Amino acid sequence: MVGGVFRWGLGAVLLASVAPFAFALSPPRPALEEIRHTSVPDYTRVIITLSAQADYNHFQVAADRAHDRPDRIVIDFSPTRLAPNLREPIPVHDGLLKRIRTGQFSPTTARVVLDLEQIESYTAFPLYSPYRLIIDVKGKSKETEVDQPSEQAEAPQPYRIMIDPGHGGRDPGAIGVGGLKEKTVVLAISKRLGKKLESRLPVKVLYTREKDVFVPLEERTAQANAMKADLFISIHANASENPHLQGVETYHLNNTDDRATIRLANFENGLQHLRQPPQVGSELSEIVSDMIHNDKLEGSVILAHVLQSSMMTQVTRRHTRARNLGVKKGPFYVLVGAEMPCVLAEVSFLTHRVQGQLLRSSAYREAIAEGLFQGIARFIKEELPRMESL
Ligand SMILES: [Zn+2]
Repeated sequence: MVGGVFRWGLGAVLLASVAPFAFALSPPRPALEEIRHTSVPDYTRVIITLSAQADYNHFQVAADRAHDRPDRIVIDFSPTRLAPNLREPIPVHDGLLKRIRTGQFSPTTARVVLDLEQIESYTAFPLYSPYRLIIDVKGKSKETEVDQPSEQAEAPQPYRIMIDPGHGGRDPGAIGVGGLKEKTVVLAISKRLGKKLESRLPVKVLYTREKDVFVPLEERTAQANAMKADLFISIHANASENPHLQGVETYHLNNTDDRATIRLANFENGLQHLRQPPQVGSELSEIVSDMIHNDKLEGSVILAHVLQSSMMTQVTRRHTRARNLGVKKGPFYVLVGAEMPCVLAEVSFLTHRVQGQLLRSSAYREAIAEGLFQGIARFIKEELPRMESL
């Protein structure tokens, strides 16, 4: 990211010194192409997508009453041009943001302004392929709840479990032996898990997808935050170039130096086609340390251990040699910014001769779903009440 300005700047100097017609060969600046947002009363996620990577800088500006300007968050991208379709302000009015404005601040800098109503805090972090900046804006949730007397009269809400079947639609995920697609297997396991949860526990089950559709990673987390999920379980099936590799592993969000995990995270983050995937780990450190600070990481680590152990118990009934690859940490986009304990389960290897075959069978899918169910049930019974009392 830091290299962006230097690279383009140098290119411009070189081209200018060659010949006038070289201007036409100058690579286009990244374009600010799309702005989307997900809103609930005390949480808004804004997603700004660019055609290529650019430097960004963000800061908060206090209201200027004299010029009738509200508090605002300003984000500058450089070198970046604003796509023509983004010149109109986007009205939001969700209690946190009034509107989102854009402008070509200078010939090289595109600016996005979030006009604020009232917020508590915000965080910003980039994701790649396509390059996008995510801005999570949080409100003063407790105050709004007090204002609504109906909330106090209601019985305690059942726990909400957000199940996230990996990939979908144009993203098949890993392809296993005999052409079995990860997106198909994990959706089937997710639905089995959801049915078990709803029939055997007093919980509400939510899905990031229930069909074969593409859902961007940052929207999955946004859904979990917006729906106030108590747990977020992302379900994947593993793949390796080594056909002998098999087993079950569960990840929680953290940075890592482990090369195999970085390779896996690049794949799950949709970066596998890039020749030089970005160092996702370094970008996440601020978010991760924020999560540690909020005791959210601890819940995720415990959840990962509980799920890993219960999956192993069930999976080894169908595949006695299944290896316990353990609980690991990894920089998975789909877990970044989640407000609840969240894990990513790699339930078995599609690329292994035995596990790849077993993943086709309903008995094996059932075993994995039962393992996940047992783990979630235990976590809800033993860990969530303890965490809430902290
Ligand atoms: Zn996956």
